[in-house]
Amino acid sequence: MNPKWVLEEITHFFYPNCCVICKSKLLYNEQDVCLQCLYNLPKTNNYKETNNLGEILLAGRFPFQRVASFAFFTKDGLLQTLIHELKYNHKPRIGNLLGAIYGIDLQGSSFLKPIDVIVPVPLHPKKKITRGYNQAEAFAKGLSQSTSIPVSVDELVRLINNPTQTKRSKTQRWENVKGIFGVKDAEIFQNKHVLLVDDVITTGSTLEACANALLECKNIQISIATIGKAL
Ligand SMILES: [Zn+2]
Repeated sequence: MNPKWVLEEITHFFYPNCCVICKSKLLYNEQDVCLQCLYNLPKTNNYKETNNLGEILLAGRFPFQRVASFAFFTKDGLLQTLIHELKYNHKPRIGNLLGAIYGIDLQGSSFLKPIDVIVPVPLHPKKKITRGYNQAEAFAKGLSQSTSIPVSVDELVRLINNPTQTKRSKTQRWENVKGIFGVKDAEIFQNKHVLLVDDVITTGSTLEACANALLECKNIQISIATIGKAL
């Protein structure tokens, strides 16, 4: 018997590595979430559809090319558990995993083809230090791994550390984020098609504020991809 395998079995017995959704014991090639739960996520596949719910939500608010989300986000749904673990339980690798899976879905699509660079919605540096990572950046890096499109994490910046959006109305959310983002060097995204990415699209206020900052760059085109689309 392979001693390494025996050691792993013993470790598993005392410290079972369980799926964050269904709590079943994970297989060796699984991390954080089992394949069955990943398979059961309510994927939107809305990158194939123009005029989808995300695009309807943002229509008329700023110029964009496309909007797509990996899966539907509902209260107590499968994706909510994953997003919670990603944001509040020190598991950026869930963001990497979902990004990598979504990137595979998007490969070869007309949604992905024109994209030059992936830009995550930034956290304020203070918040990034407290959390230890930016969950949108983790998703962006996963997307980049499976699509080979580069990520830019330093150019779009959050200038003000605003309070959480969770309990705010749509108008309050917009007032809360207006003018809090900026682009360090407007030439960097000039003539580029940027894929702006975030964890969940709810009212779209944060994405709208980021897009307004990005639009300082001449001849920029913006598409959006999120892990979840709130219903
Ligand atoms: Zn599971």
